[in-house]
Amino acid sequence: MAVRPITKLGDPILRTVSRKVETSEIASPEVDDLIRDMIDTMFDARGIGIAAPQVGVGLQVAIINERNHPYPIINPRIIKHSLRSSEDEEGCLSIPAVFGMVRRPREVTVMYVDAKGKQHRKKVTGLLARVFQHEIDHLNGILFIDRAKTVTEKSRP
Ligand code: ZN
Repeated sequence: MAVRPITKLGDPILRTVSRKVETSEIASPEVDDLIRDMIDTMFDARGIGIAAPQVGVGLQVAIINERNHPYPIINPRIIKHSLRSSEDEEGCLSIPAVFGMVRRPREVTVMYVDAKGKQHRKKVTGLLARVFQHEIDHLNGILFIDRAKTVTEKSRP
């Protein structure tokens, strides 16, 4: 178990497009360690998702915390999204104490590969759809503040 330092706004890796994980790298000790450490780091920071650039690694790997069950998504991409959108407040472990209202499609279909290399196709809605989109944005160098209509600073209790 290892909690890695979280990169913060201003670190160029957060603005870099992450590279795809090669099939030969999936289930390698490096990628498995990365996944384990990302889960530890996410729980330590009380996040509901985390992307590899947030621990300083430019690979297309993210963790989704679905009802306290974290799982990795590798090389994810959104293949379909609803026309209906919803607006909700977002924050980011890399931009502490900053929150903003972000409008996103309410429902998305995502393709990704799991830690064993198995391909998944998953349709998600609501908060889960928001988390998937937020994390996939990270892998493309996009932050929620780029999409937010308004951004406010507040300290967490
Ligand atoms: Zn984030």
